[in-house]
Amino acid sequence: LSLFNKIPRAPPDKILGLTEQFSKDTNNNKVNLTVGVYKDDKGLVSTFPTVAKAQKILEQGEKMNSDFSYLPIIGSPSYRISTLNFLFRDSCPESGPKLLEQERVSFVQTLSGTGALAVAADLLAQFVSRTVWVPRPSWPNHVNIFKRHGFSDVREYPYYEDGKLDVDEWITHLRKNVKKNEGVRHCIILHACCHNPTGLDPTMKQWQQILDTIHELEMIPIIDMAYQGLESGNPVRDAYVLRMCLDKSRYESWPHGLFLCQSFAKNMGLYGERVGSLSVVVPPNQPDSKDNVESQLKQIVRSMYSSPPGYGCRVATMVLSNDNFKRDWYKNVETMVQRLLNVRQGMYDRLGWKGLLNFEQQHGMFFYTGLKPHALNRLREEYSIYMTMDGRLSLSGINDSNIDYVCDALKAISD
Ligand code: PMP
Repeated sequence: LSLFNKIPRAPPDKILGLTEQFSKDTNNNKVNLTVGVYKDDKGLVSTFPTVAKAQKILEQGEKMNSDFSYLPIIGSPSYRISTLNFLFRDSCPESGPKLLEQERVSFVQTLSGTGALAVAADLLAQFVSRTVWVPRPSWPNHVNIFKRHGFSDVREYPYYEDGKLDVDEWITHLRKNVKKNEGVRHCIILHACCHNPTGLDPTMKQWQQILDTIHELEMIPIIDMAYQGLESGNPVRDAYVLRMCLDKSRYESWPHGLFLCQSFAKNMGLYGERVGSLSVVVPPNQPDSKDNVESQLKQIVRSMYSSPPGYGCRVATMVLSNDNFKRDWYKNVETMVQRLLNVRQGMYDRLGWKGLLNFEQQHGMFFYTGLKPHALNRLREEYSIYMTMDGRLSLSGINDSNIDYVCDALKAISD
């Protein structure tokens, strides 16, 4: 008997499975509000104007690699320089440059944010820790990635309940369950901004309390920055959690490292090109750590996928390494965020859902409705409106042509 008989059917992906179902739906009014991909007001996934311009120049000019040769294992050297500059000079002007000068940042180009998380998990599980805390709720792939990459202990911290963030509960829970002297090192995933799926983030004051707690408990922060720019419309402003973590006047250092998993999928619209990075900030006064860590990252990448893809990172490098392009890119991000805000406001005006959830306080790509599975099933079955089963709705799927249809349906199923 073939051993393949023993391979069970895996459950469909919670988000992408719905997209498959959507494509088979024959209702002309169908609306896909599942995946976090930005669509413009015509319902199209279009390339950011600045990115398209950079692409054109690359393809016409000599800067385009005329061959499709391999990139180095840890990525393109020019992408590395421009991304490190963006993250540690532009986004963290007070503390970042010094870290770069002191050679305290190990870096690897990754397959977008997911790849950064996977490589980070591999390194941590091999050498540092197999325990990680993930917010409840979170992007479902966090748990998948960390379990798949060697973490035996994936725990949840209370983040949100019934329409509210509960930061006090979060802090109390960590203080009760993380003992810094018990010999186990605890990692913690922090959504840098635009928490997925709730769209609600702590205030600066709350972040300060959270980071103080994490630092005191000697935990290892893993900052997941997948939506930099989608909160305020300004990528630099949105790096506030990274800035707070690296504020030397507050935290001398993170003695067991700090991990930054970053993605240009959403803020540059490079989703399928898989352009992202992992930066590991190593503790001070350990002259070998940066290179040692980087050598291990290289080993991990070599055995996992050998080297990253080249095209998207060349486009990103072009945008990041030219001040005019960078400025124009920031404007593109602002335009995108303005449209998301308009849609949010338009829905709010139509729905006037006072009691439902504080969605006017939410930001980013999503509207977290709080709708339960039976309501979501009705929306899908009766109206062909697809949302993820946690009640998350991707705002950019809404435009002038379907906003009334979607809002009427939401009202009908909430009555
Ligand atoms: N983290 C979070 C919270 C996300 O929502 C996403 C994208 N859905 C990612 C990471 C990674 O996305 P990508 O691999 O496309 O950069």
